[in-house]
Amino acid sequence: MNTSKKTTKTISLKNYGISHDNIKYQLTPSQLHDITLQKGMGKEASSGALAVNTGEFTGRSPMDRFIVKDKVTQDEVWWGDINIPFEPLKFDALYDKVIAYLNEKELYVRDCYACADHNYRTDIRVINEYPWSNLFAYNMFIRPTDEELKNFEPEWTVVNAPGFMADAKVDGTRQHNFAILNFTRKIALIGGTGYTGEIKKGIFSALNFILPTQKNTLPMHCSSNVGKNGETAIFFGLSGTGKTTLSTDASRKLIGDDEHGWNNENAVFNFEGGCYAKVINLSEEQEPEIFGAIKRGAILENVIMDDKGDVDFADTSITQNTRVSYPIYHIDNVQRPSIGKNPKNIFFLTADAFGVLPPISKLTPSQAAYHFISGYTAKVAGTEAGVKEPIPSFSACFGAPFMPLHPTKYAEMLSKKMKETGVNVWLVNTGWTGGPYGVGTRMKLKYTRAMINAVLNGDLGLYSYDDYHIHSVFGVAQPRTCPGVPTDVLSPRTTWNNDEAYYTTAFKLTNAFRENFKKFESYASEEIRRGGPQRYAF
Ligand code: ATP
Ligand code: MN
Repeated sequence: MNTSKKTTKTISLKNYGISHDNIKYQLTPSQLHDITLQKGMGKEASSGALAVNTGEFTGRSPMDRFIVKDKVTQDEVWWGDINIPFEPLKFDALYDKVIAYLNEKELYVRDCYACADHNYRTDIRVINEYPWSNLFAYNMFIRPTDEELKNFEPEWTVVNAPGFMADAKVDGTRQHNFAILNFTRKIALIGGTGYTGEIKKGIFSALNFILPTQKNTLPMHCSSNVGKNGETAIFFGLSGTGKTTLSTDASRKLIGDDEHGWNNENAVFNFEGGCYAKVINLSEEQEPEIFGAIKRGAILENVIMDDKGDVDFADTSITQNTRVSYPIYHIDNVQRPSIGKNPKNIFFLTADAFGVLPPISKLTPSQAAYHFISGYTAKVAGTEAGVKEPIPSFSACFGAPFMPLHPTKYAEMLSKKMKETGVNVWLVNTGWTGGPYGVGTRMKLKYTRAMINAVLNGDLGLYSYDDYHIHSVFGVAQPRTCPGVPTDVLSPRTTWNNDEAYYTTAFKLTNAFRENFKKFESYASEEIRRGGPQRYAF
């Protein structure tokens, strides 16, 4: 692996319209770390990691994500609030402005690729204004060997100019920041935001269009790992539900923490070469692997450190979305290459802040399809005094912001694969227990891990009514016992100690499910509709 060797290759960006040659090409992580410090753009944490502030934006900005509407995309993309159209001519004009801006700057360029399965390999060139954003690209995309770099011809280019501010009226953006995908020119154009997640999610969104439409492969917003006997598990879930946390498990080899493809050759492959973990309240005791990955080469984002460089992971004064990115080899137990066989188990992770979904339950195929299209999790209300009501949040395919096609396209592909493989699907509530947010508590990570391990070790076979109970509201199969987990915890109703409040809240949630599902009803078969909750409040 090309981790420390200094490459001497230089590069011209004339074909992009960059006329100067002040280009730092393929610098090592160490060089980028040092340059960031020299420029005063970051600090070194006591762990050795680089700590940066991403500036105005500490998360993605979904309302400023556009797709150029042209011959390639117009009839395929599901246009709307998520996939907002952008005019080709406006794109060309804005691109030229960004390039003119970058033409005045020293630039950091990295050639890398996405997709561990080389049949799907997508070569990418990332052009960054800032050195630490280029280190992020090193960490997150797959690193080509020196040999592979010799004749490297990028297919896609990410142009990343955090310091460039758009003029919304002239440029056709909503405000000064933007992330625009152009499938004809194969460019992801990002400006006005330093949030690094836009870089990885830009390419993810591109693959979410290309793989299903051109390569008959299902892209998934999921993490993945593999057990000792080679069996793969995948974990779908929206942000903060536990994809990264639960896939990083010392007893299983990590395939990837966020983006995978499931091809027709019976394999699941990672798109990326690194992980991007949330670090809010991170502790060495609870999450030793992630904690240990925070060392030189890693980038901490928007954390607070003391004078000695010790990070206070509980400090959310910049944002709740504090993060660390690191190359996958910072984790000890990883699968190489990042490819696994057809999964035996799929987990849908949800952080149910209403606290009414069972911590683990098994889904029938129709329930699995229903929950995949619904993509439920809950947001906890802001910290204003008195506001404690959870807000249901539905995001189709557990990743709607990154899915350019209609959700039913992905759902149909997944249903077909589930049928072909007979995979087991589980719904895991990593959210609240004993009451809703504000009353109950977050499910203990060690219990969630115990439930998942019980499934993976075959200790949670639900064969007869003695083993499980059908939840009277959600209709899912709730195990009665699970090794390593107190029996009470398995039944959310029991943890509430107040049946009336429990059912009232459960019906609030099923009503939200029903309301959300209306927009899919006309597309969904009878079989999928049957997979919804069994009871609603009227
Ligand atoms: P993203 O898509 O934004 O990367 P993610 O699905 O990878 O999100 P994680 O980074 O794993 O989400 O975040 C889960 C957070 O919830 C972590 O901070 C983790 O420590 C915390 N957590 C608390 N309890 C649990 C639990 N029972 N299961 C999983 N995570 C938990
Ligand atoms: Mn994650």
